[in-house]
Amino acid sequence: MDTTFHHHELPVEDPFTIARGTTGTADAFVVRLEREGVVGVGGGTPSAYYGESPDSVADVLPGLLAIVEDVDDPHAGQRVADRLFQRAPDAPAARAAVSSALADLAARDLEVPLYRQWGLDPEVTPSTSYTVGIAEPGEMAHRAEAAVEAGFDHLKVKLGTDDDRARFDAVREAAPDAEIRVDANEGWDADEAIEKAEWLAAAGVEFLEQPVPASDLDGLRTVAAEASLPVCADEACVTASDVPRVADACDLVTVKLMKCGGLQPALEQIHTARAHGLEVMLGCMVESNASIAPAVHLAPLVDYADLDGALLLAEDVCDGIPVQDGAFDLSAVASGTGARLVD
Ligand SMILES: [Mg+2]
Repeated sequence: MDTTFHHHELPVEDPFTIARGTTGTADAFVVRLEREGVVGVGGGTPSAYYGESPDSVADVLPGLLAIVEDVDDPHAGQRVADRLFQRAPDAPAARAAVSSALADLAARDLEVPLYRQWGLDPEVTPSTSYTVGIAEPGEMAHRAEAAVEAGFDHLKVKLGTDDDRARFDAVREAAPDAEIRVDANEGWDADEAIEKAEWLAAAGVEFLEQPVPASDLDGLRTVAAEASLPVCADEACVTASDVPRVADACDLVTVKLMKCGGLQPALEQIHTARAHGLEVMLGCMVESNASIAPAVHLAPLVDYADLDGALLLAEDVCDGIPVQDGAFDLSAVASGTGARLVD
């Protein structure tokens, strides 16, 4: 097995701002595996919030790729994932890059798309939302309007500022028919969240994601009990082992490959959430198609998709799964995940 990786700094279309800060470029690590003429590609984007950096990923990847070379079997995904975890438990994005590339290689070796290898139903794949980051109200309205014109009927609106009402109202006015979910990225306390949930619910918002800090589980529980909207745990629910802890404090959880460490851990987290009676959203960072494409193959298992990370980029090094009006066309994937390096 030949293994390589490259680090790319990908420019974003518009500066992407959430309650915690602004992203101007996305760090994308692209792993390429080749065995007997078959190539697999996967990606990872480190998040400082979850303890990774470009340097930490670059440091850990050679050791992870050595494991893939040692196992030397594209169909040993479980064994590889277990060994990756033992070697680098605190490097979820690095592990996601490697295990996604291996999953792509395995499905390409079998000449089937990954979702068919797993027997999943592409017909029940939820459409992705398009994220409107924090900006001046007029700019947010402009971005929302453009997204609706581009065919998206679900928007995710980032809030968690001193002036949320003006921002939200501008978006709602620009996109009166869109389904809107709101993500405060830990920007509020419980009282503030309950107050804001009232006018957000009156404006038809679907649910409220991570209104309070991840460490404030009591606050999240209070919001879930008292707010007029369903509540989603994102930063508070990193892996499957967090699900039992948050299960009575939210209505749904966000699963991301870059948080939990790849496809196998994401499957565990999805099923654990289901077993606790929770709904599931599949989310992402601002990422390359190298890491979005594998996530899309899990989307038939979830209720909501927020997999627009590659759509927010001005340039990408990989092609992915075609998106039309927010709907992923999994039938366009001949084999593997659909992530392909652009020549
Ligand atoms: Mg979120």
